[in-house]
Amino acid sequence: TTRVIEALALNHRPRRLPVRLERNPYEVIIGTGLIERAGALLATVLPQKRVVVISDTTVAELYLHPLIESLTDSGFAVQSIVVPPGEQSKSLDEFRRVTDAILEQKVERRTTVIALGGGVVGDLAGFVASATLRGLPFVQMPTTLLSQVDSSVGGKTGINTSWGKNLLGAFHQPAMVLADVSSLATLPVREIRAGYAEIVKAGLIGDADLFTWCERHGAAVIAQDPDMLAEAVERACAFKAAIVTEDEFERKSQGGRALLNLGHTFGHALEAEMGYNGRLLHGEAVSIGLRLAFMLSVRLGYCPQTDLDRVTAHLDATGMPARISQLDRSFDARTLLDHMTRDKKMHDGKLTFVLVRGIGQAFTCRDVPAQAVHDVLVEDGC
Ligand code: NAD
Ligand code: MG
Repeated sequence: TTRVIEALALNHRPRRLPVRLERNPYEVIIGTGLIERAGALLATVLPQKRVVVISDTTVAELYLHPLIESLTDSGFAVQSIVVPPGEQSKSLDEFRRVTDAILEQKVERRTTVIALGGGVVGDLAGFVASATLRGLPFVQMPTTLLSQVDSSVGGKTGINTSWGKNLLGAFHQPAMVLADVSSLATLPVREIRAGYAEIVKAGLIGDADLFTWCERHGAAVIAQDPDMLAEAVERACAFKAAIVTEDEFERKSQGGRALLNLGHTFGHALEAEMGYNGRLLHGEAVSIGLRLAFMLSVRLGYCPQTDLDRVTAHLDATGMPARISQLDRSFDARTLLDHMTRDKKMHDGKLTFVLVRGIGQAFTCRDVPAQAVHDVLVEDGC
């Protein structure tokens, strides 16, 4: 029995992933039951026993009380601010409301802002933390798969304006990321799949082992097996942390953070046509976009057909959206291409894309003919 108990304890010991940034190194802690243990975990790294938790109403209803209890048990003074759920909260109006509420509580320079929620809460709270009193310590507690594998690591924060998404923001690294995979149990499976697309993306960009792991365990991840979720989050965060460490401020024109946009040029065009109202989630658009990026790479002679076939088979096997023809749509290839050419400056009919030489071998390509992009969209049933 002691053996069994030891094995269980080991199983539930959180995984710790160091993010080795020069100026602001920090850890991503991944595991189950972390919300209930947040007080003890944060007590060791925060400069003051005082925090402001920012969350949205959906997440607050589920997880704010256990978090506050854990924090107060460890001696923290806790205040909380709750915003409506959804992308609309990444706005200047909400930014003003939250900063007003924080300043009204007379926060101090060493008071920490904790984001408890998905990418929306993380981006808003992070930007609030970056600007308030010229920068408060910040902690991410991501509660969606997308935010655990993507938005909580890397330090990008921001809000939207009428000119576009994420146009006001700052790089503001957290002091710690606590990714509690138990919190994913309440997430709709559609949101799990949307987050899973960014895990597959990480493998396809530069971690062929991760993609092979996905082929073996992807179904269990989507079925929300906690151990598989924790391993997937760890592997995807490790991949993103490595990219971010080598290009913290997205200054590299080749490679670096730009590679994280694999599948996203197509994805953003699809979102522009049918996203932002729940019809098509970002991750769903990325899933289709990943396959289109492979199709384009095959068409241009960079990538073997067999790698495209593996990607298609995996997306189909895990029930991920894979084809434009699966969408209930009213646009054509020309309309999508217009979004892409408007998005990115075109030079002599050529576009910049993240392409692949195969699974795990992404690169930035500056001279993709617009005609080839159009042909791929038509080939996909557009
Ligand atoms: P989200 O934050 O809107 O969460 C999705 C929905 O799930 C919301 O309705 C939320 O209330 C609900 N929810 C959250 N956690 C839950 C839980 N555990 N149980 C039940 N419901 C829960 O969306 P998201 O997909 O997490 O994040 C999308 C945002 O992330 C976008 O604004 C995007 O721009 C941003 N993003 C940022 C970065 C970055 O580097 N900063 C990277 C990728 C995406
Ligand atoms: Mg993305």
